[in-house]
Amino acid sequence: MMTHMMLDMLDMRSFLEEFSFAAAARGFSRHLLLETEDGPIIAWERHGKGPPAYLSAGIHGDEPAGPLAALRLMEEGAFPTDRHCIVCPALNPGGLILQTRENRRGADLNRDFNHLSCPETVAHTRWLSSRPVPDLFISLHEDWETDGFYFYEINLGADNVRRASGLLAAVSAHFPAELGPEIDGHVLRGPGWIFHRAEPDLPDSWPEAIWMAKRGCPLSFTFETPSKAALTERVAAHVNGALAVLMNQK
Ligand SMILES: [Zn+2]
Repeated sequence: MMTHMMLDMLDMRSFLEEFSFAAAARGFSRHLLLETEDGPIIAWERHGKGPPAYLSAGIHGDEPAGPLAALRLMEEGAFPTDRHCIVCPALNPGGLILQTRENRRGADLNRDFNHLSCPETVAHTRWLSSRPVPDLFISLHEDWETDGFYFYEINLGADNVRRASGLLAAVSAHFPAELGPEIDGHVLRGPGWIFHRAEPDLPDSWPEAIWMAKRGCPLSFTFETPSKAALTERVAAHVNGALAVLMNQK
């Protein structure tokens, strides 16, 4: 099922069909957040104990590894069965079809979480707000300017260095940790590790991770794989990294 999807372009129709099939097989229910001219934005949810673990992908349309990794995680049954799980695998249908970072109207959805000026972010945050606040958020992204893997951690709870090193170890079969001393203006805490406060870099342009932190989500990881590398490697790195965090949250 996966092979024809492993082109650098995401076929949205096939992707949504395959995701629906895999998610239904794993007992997830479908919530339509918004019907856009480019297709639906769907949240998948499976009830269970405690605050949800939440994974999002595909908010930047030129970063197909995230949605494909979310699909692989769903197909492989990676989401813990003993807890509430939420997955939003393709948050920017227009961008994914056009292969642009922005949506069809040129807006970067992952800078719109304070103003909520786009129908996509309005529908997405409205639905998430109707759910319990997650205690873990994983956000899958890519970076065109790096050669290695790196991640942002926003942590409002206990520090855990081993969790971060476990994440990098899980990804290391595919990518080395991106070396500093800085990435994107951030001083690294360690190789590949941006330990970010719960405040936006630009006060007027919040990404989803800041909105989640402001809602009270105590722990988030934003993964960045290098877009220059092969898509299969980027997908595998996201999958292994997400598994490491899901299995080792505490
Ligand atoms: Zn991105």
